Amino acid sequence: MPWQSITDPYAIWVSEIMLQQTQVATVLERYPKMMKRFPSVAHLAGADIDEVLAEWSGLGYYSRARNLHACAKQVVTQYQGEFPADPIKLEKLSGIGRSTAGAIAAFAFRIRTPILDANVKRVLARLFGITGVLQEKKVSDSLWQLAAELLPRSPTQMSVYTQALMDFGATWCTAKQPVCVTQKAQCPFEGACQANARDQVLAIPKKIPKKKSPQFQCTVGILTYGNAVLLQKRPAKAIWGGLWSLPESPWQEQADADSKAPANELTGMQLINTVLANGAVKDTPTLFASPVTIGARIKHVFSHRILQIQAYEMPLNANAKKELENAIQHGEIPFIWAELGGLEQYGLAQPIRQLLEGWNRVRDAAESDQCGHAVPIDLKNKP
Ligand code: SF4
Repeated sequence: MPWQSITDPYAIWVSEIMLQQTQVATVLERYPKMMKRFPSVAHLAGADIDEVLAEWSGLGYYSRARNLHACAKQVVTQYQGEFPADPIKLEKLSGIGRSTAGAIAAFAFRIRTPILDANVKRVLARLFGITGVLQEKKVSDSLWQLAAELLPRSPTQMSVYTQALMDFGATWCTAKQPVCVTQKAQCPFEGACQANARDQVLAIPKKIPKKKSPQFQCTVGILTYGNAVLLQKRPAKAIWGGLWSLPESPWQEQADADSKAPANELTGMQLINTVLANGAVKDTPTLFASPVTIGARIKHVFSHRILQIQAYEMPLNANAKKELENAIQHGEIPFIWAELGGLEQYGLAQPIRQLLEGWNRVRDAAESDQCGHAVPIDLKNKP
């Protein structure tokens, strides 16, 4: 892995944040691009947040990108561009938790300090037969204490010890297929492992029953003028905070989570008036270059909720564009007209990017067929 066997705290920190909620294979692909675009903490601190969000696009959990940017600024202003070695100071920086602080301190500075990511928690819980729920404070405190007691005496061993512990959890003592169960290899801790001795390996750590995710629906408008589409900036504290997105109606929870037909959907015109223009745009067909049509519907699965997005396609003519701009310029939400062929330069939420790129491909195909009207598109629903 490009982030292993290095001592640059910046490079280690970026990899730790990327790996927090993203699969290793994806990080392997995206990490080199991130490092190329922002090769140092000074480059990252000096970048516009839009650039950082664009580079992060598709990785999800965008608060990580906002914290990354904020933390880079803190390192530059508070520590003259040098990460502190003290894990207590590291933990005070934006987006750095206790375990990440421990990893940076251990890898970059060989400080004797523990880490406790999800893999390490599982390994320790099994080895010591801890049957409680890991999220409970009492259990978490005892795991931190164990992690500290187990540290090697010599600081020079901190890097290899920490990496080995993380890798052992990620590849040998995995959640569903630990080697002692699959018999693919002999675990070096088999004789000492409490969970193994009590035949409780798969029961530790204790799982909390998963609640059914609530389902929401919303309407988004693909408002186009020529080859440009109107994008709005999302509020910083909302989901997909700070990213560019399509104008969208408020999310409505659906009582029947299995329903395929969301209730109370806004029409295209209602969307323009209620969401964008506060009732200021007249409902007249002459405003549109061609009739408002229903576009794609996609389903996006978040970690704790499901969102169905219904898109409306609204090609605007010059009058409509002017009237709309006049109406929304008085609002507080920034908007831009983005070229459909250059969307990669904008930080867009993944489902919105997927929706727009799919819709644009179909539009191009329809135009080359001289079809002249929008065609329904069928996008694969990816979480
Ligand atoms: S014996 Fe099994 S559960 Fe225990 S540490 Fe080894 S792989 Fe993990």
